[in-house]
Amino acid sequence: MTCVLAIDIGGTKLAAALVDEAGSMLRSATRPTPRTEVMSALAGLIAEVMNGGPLPEAAGIGCAGPLDLATGTVSPVNMPSWRGFPLREEVRKLTGLPTVLAGDAQCFALGEHWLGAGRGSTSLLGIVVSTGIGGGLVIDGAPLLGPTGNAGHVGHMSIDPNGERCECGGRGCVERYSSGPNLARWALEHGWSPHEDPTDPTGNSAGSGRAVSGTEAMDGQAEGADGRAGDASLRAEGASGKAGDAGLGAGTTVKHNGEKADARALARDAAAGDPVAVAAFERGARALAGMIASTAAAAEVTTVVIGGGVSAAGKVLFEPLERALDDVAGLAFVRAVQVRQSTLGVHASLAGAANLAWLAITANG
Ligand SMILES: [Zn+2]
Repeated sequence: MTCVLAIDIGGTKLAAALVDEAGSMLRSATRPTPRTEVMSALAGLIAEVMNGGPLPEAAGIGCAGPLDLATGTVSPVNMPSWRGFPLREEVRKLTGLPTVLAGDAQCFALGEHWLGAGRGSTSLLGIVVSTGIGGGLVIDGAPLLGPTGNAGHVGHMSIDPNGERCECGGRGCVERYSSGPNLARWALEHGWSPHEDPTDPTGNSAGSGRAVSGTEAMDGQAEGADGRAGDASLRAEGASGKAGDAGLGAGTTVKHNGEKADARALARDAAAGDPVAVAAFERGARALAGMIASTAAAAEVTTVVIGGGVSAAGKVLFEPLERALDDVAGLAFVRAVQVRQSTLGVHASLAGAANLAWLAITANG
């Protein structure tokens, strides 16, 4: 049984799996990302999936950015203890395996291309819309990483050069319009007040913690018994729209009238017809449409797969996005772009990390 070691490193959780050539997870495990000593937590996680399992041929890592592929170092925004951290070399030393590294959103795109909503596409843009907006390109089956590994950073494409200042220092970035916290921010500024959550038995959704429990439940299932889960398919595991749901609440702790005023609440209210919530998603979708049309024009992208917490909003995001694209896009090949919702959910980046390792094995003969 040949397999690779896939590793997904995010600000809230670490995941690792042994994945075969067909995309089945032979073993997997996750744990929360600690504030410090991240490498020792990662070493423990890797030992958990490798000990007693088949020996992998290579390791693929997807890590939150920014990163520098020239040096193999990472400096994830949400992990202050790692600045210029030599992740690729540390994992190579730890495992003795040939090790490849890419951004987590690049791995998302690669995973969706391999096993998910982007299968068979010749030119794919993957977008993760959550607390921020990340992206990755897969051209002719290969990831387009760029010289330092930052290609596909579509969240900071300017869709309005006269627009608002972005946290990155730029102006008019799509993230400023369409990320979860920015959707909620705009809605609050325009008079939105979250409605009471009808699904919350306490009558008060604030502080319920459900924003992260969705992810944990999914991971708990995927993990199986101590990572010994037999033959769990990456394809099937995350197929629920709920998978990406976790990020909807991420990044905002704003409360309004006792209700959590985040993108999850905004999506619920938009679905119920709240006019400001609907307008917030229409505005965010229009910004995404501008970015998608621009990227399609530049790289002849044929397929766009959108994941991340905000994508779980479903039709309140995707319907205005289709309408906006119809308005924004002109040239026939740009108008032809297909926009799809992620089907792998929380497992997309892990699948992409596995695919990255398989591609490296193939490339090295
Ligand atoms: Zn920006």
